[in-house]
Amino acid sequence: MSKFKAILISRDEDKKQSVEMTEIDDADLMDGDVTIAIEATTVNYKDGLAITGKSPVVRHWPMIPGIDFSGKVIDSSHEDFAVGDDVILNGFGVGETHWGAYAEKARVKGDWLIKRPANISAKEAMSIGTAGYTAMLCVLALQNHAITPDRGPIIVTGANGGVGSVAISILAKLGYHVIASTGRPQEEAFLKDLGAGEIIDRNTLSEPGKPLGRENWAGGVDAVGSQTLANVLAQTKYGGAVAACGLAQGFDLPATVMPFILRGVSLLGIDSVMAPKSIREEAWSRLASDLDRDKLASLTTEISFEDLIPTAHDIVDGKVRGRVVAMMGA
Ligand code: NDP
Repeated sequence: MSKFKAILISRDEDKKQSVEMTEIDDADLMDGDVTIAIEATTVNYKDGLAITGKSPVVRHWPMIPGIDFSGKVIDSSHEDFAVGDDVILNGFGVGETHWGAYAEKARVKGDWLIKRPANISAKEAMSIGTAGYTAMLCVLALQNHAITPDRGPIIVTGANGGVGSVAISILAKLGYHVIASTGRPQEEAFLKDLGAGEIIDRNTLSEPGKPLGRENWAGGVDAVGSQTLANVLAQTKYGGAVAACGLAQGFDLPATVMPFILRGVSLLGIDSVMAPKSIREEAWSRLASDLDRDKLASLTTEISFEDLIPTAHDIVDGKVRGRVVAMMGA
């Protein structure tokens, strides 16, 4: 039985959490019908919450965190997957209730996996990660709501974050005028390089505002929630739509119904964790075609396995720009 490295979050009798780099072996892995040699993973905001213990993300102890990975199948009794297949996993409680990505191997249910598109490498898949895949789900939701570029600008909140930065790149490539809302104006050049047409200070959206404001955008991708989402809705044009996926400011929504009942604005909820396979495959196939790889590389920082824990702290502290990718062998 071969040992391999993993990060393990444990809890003592007083429910005090600790995180360690350790070694485990195949027999320790949880039940599943596909075993994967993990090639790449990443740090999402949720991974930061799990490792810092700031929110109750982990619901089974001990836990290997990491909500997404890309890797190669090394054992399978699932009919859709064979040894050698390149796969991607996003969500399904991995890193929360089922041992996750921060290890050299994972054993999961094949139903949770999708095949990695042939023209996306393992590194690119995790530089996209759950944040980028969620950004794509948001864009798909806006497109399904007929929010086309001629309808007006799209606001992206949490612009420097993983969801925000990938959303900006995708929307710009599709021809939308993107307004990036950020608390890091010093990153203006980075955001404009990704394709943002305008930058606004996130403080203009983070305080209580009017139930209805000027109609400033046709739609939005919101990674922030709370007062910011309320203000984004209040400034959405007639018939527009906002895809809401995050809670970086807070999980509350201190809004009024006015944008909905006077302007026909729609609030589109986005969940990446339990999204059905057909939607995942559509999102990843669109990522393969609609995401500029040079832009993806420019928004990605590569880290090592050993950097995962400090980077998890950084993302919760709002210090991570764009996306990070960790290559297992590095
Ligand atoms: P990041 O930490 O990479 O980005 C979040 C960004 O939000 C920050 O970079 C910052 O952008 C902005 N921000 C942070 N704190 C505040 C604040 N107090 N007020 C306003 N803006 C703030 O996280 P991700 O992009 O990976 O995820 C974004 C959100 O989406 C998270 O809440 C995450 O949990 C959620 N999420 C949800 C998914 C789903 O399935 N629904 C899937 C993936 C993520 P800037 O510095 O530019 O202001």
